[in-house]
Amino acid sequence: MNEIFEKISSYGHEQVVYCNDKNTGLKAIIAIHNTILGPSLGGCRMYPYQSDSAALEDVLRLSKGMTYKASISNLNLGGGKAVIIGDPKKVKTSELLKSFGRFVDTLNGRYITAEDVGMTVEDMEHIRSQSKHVTGITQSLGGSGDPSIFTALGVFIGMKAALKKKYQTESFDNLKVGIQGFGKVGYYLSKHLFEAGAKIYGFDVDQERLSIVCKEFGVTPIPNGDLMNLDLDIFSPCALGGIINPQTIQSLKCQIIAGAANNQLLDEKRESKTINDRNILYVPDYVINAGGLMNVANELTGYDSSKATRQVEGIYDTLLEIFNLSEHQNLSTIEAANLIAEKRIQDSK
Ligand code: NAD
Repeated sequence: MNEIFEKISSYGHEQVVYCNDKNTGLKAIIAIHNTILGPSLGGCRMYPYQSDSAALEDVLRLSKGMTYKASISNLNLGGGKAVIIGDPKKVKTSELLKSFGRFVDTLNGRYITAEDVGMTVEDMEHIRSQSKHVTGITQSLGGSGDPSIFTALGVFIGMKAALKKKYQTESFDNLKVGIQGFGKVGYYLSKHLFEAGAKIYGFDVDQERLSIVCKEFGVTPIPNGDLMNLDLDIFSPCALGGIINPQTIQSLKCQIIAGAANNQLLDEKRESKTINDRNILYVPDYVINAGGLMNVANELTGYDSSKATRQVEGIYDTLLEIFNLSEHQNLSTIEAANLIAEKRIQDSK
């Protein structure tokens, strides 16, 4: 018991709820990291975790990230996240999702859920049947639809801010951009880049996803290992976390790292120092990928897509503020982002 409290305290969480329903087989953990700025909002991930402790570690890490993401994005929301343990392809049923919805409801809005890995918009509707504390539902039900479109727009806008800082221009013309992962975000991001005149290189483990972007946006396929060794203006991780690590970091030849994946740096402190030493501009992941959160957050006050778009466009100025703070105080960009996010929470106490 002590070990769990130690772990929770080390991340600074307010509350962690274990949900168990023997009738539906539901085993879930809801983690509320911080509610100083508002109710905690964050997606529910369904994944076949190897152990309960792996599930706990994931939900604690992800929910803490949501606190920082909401704060830096000027949203009056706190950070929370949920995980359901199990393979979504094998054990996800409408009854299990409804059971999860009833647990969400017991928290009376301290935690608002949304979709994440392993969950779909349709799944949210089952949860919604048991609790109103759900976002990421379909447009036909007053929701905001697919958040990836806004996440990709935010990444594209964030890339512009990075270009401004690094090259004093926002032009993508003939710039070399390498994308790892052409899923929902990677696809829409490629579209923006293609239309802006960038040369796109990339890799996806899913051959079908790769051929779609090659055909539609002229992407040049590159074997995964080689993508990070390529002479690129921008490397954009849009698949996995932990992709910037001691094994990969020395071979990077890009000028800028700017992508949608969460927790791109395996070890934030260690990797950000090496990135700085190598004079690569790292765009903090939770800042550049906040477009989807901004979009779903709008559902809470009555969805307005033009307001969501304006908020996403604000990522540009937020990033310039972070880059300037990082330069003037000799901090890594992630340290500068953390400082701004933490200050907003402190100031509102
Ligand atoms: P997705 O599941 O639709 O796409 C991920 C893609 O990465 C898939 O096409 C998959 O085949 C590919 N992939 C998996 N392993 C790979 C590997 N080793 N090398 C290359 N490609 C690989 O996910 P998404 O919604 O596009 O999200 C992409 C990333 O951005 C994720 O890390 C996600 O957590 C993060 N993110 C997404 C959103 C959003 O709105 N969807 C918001 C914030 C952060």
